[in-house]
Amino acid sequence: MLDPEKCGMTRFPAPVLAERAKPIETVDDSIRRLAAKMIDLMIEFKGVGLAGPQAGVDLRIFVASPDGTRENAKVYINPEIEPAGPIEAVEEGCLSLPGIFAKIRRNTQCTVTATDLDGNRCTESAEGLLARAFQHEFDHLEGKLIKDRFSRIQQIAARRRLRELMEDYESLSS
Ligand code: ZN
Repeated sequence: MLDPEKCGMTRFPAPVLAERAKPIETVDDSIRRLAAKMIDLMIEFKGVGLAGPQAGVDLRIFVASPDGTRENAKVYINPEIEPAGPIEAVEEGCLSLPGIFAKIRRNTQCTVTATDLDGNRCTESAEGLLARAFQHEFDHLEGKLIKDRFSRIQQIAARRRLRELMEDYESLSS
């Protein structure tokens, strides 16, 4: 049973981050409460996006705000994305991989079609940071983290920090 009150920031290597998230069948009050909680987490941790698995929930939902403000935060349920435009490598971080930053190649534009909190299917096109956030958050729903997109050299550079995160996770869960 989904309990949004129990959701919290989830970091690598929590298994939920490596799984493909499940579709949301009905947009009900528990989903609306989950979305509100996810926006709170995104604002608290100063992100521009947050996906369900990052809140510990294996559901296909993400929130994003182009400027990291609550006013501009939006909720995307069961999203489909269509990246477009040229590929650009831009430095990215991830709230689930604190302390790791690396240039990730992504399309500069992206169209997202998703269900909103009223249950309506909407389409939105973005470019720049928001287009990148859509692609990054969609990756989370597929169980993919930025480290899974790293080049060999980026993997080597991040190895130590990844090991620290694994040790932190073990000490928290033991
Ligand atoms: Zn992320």
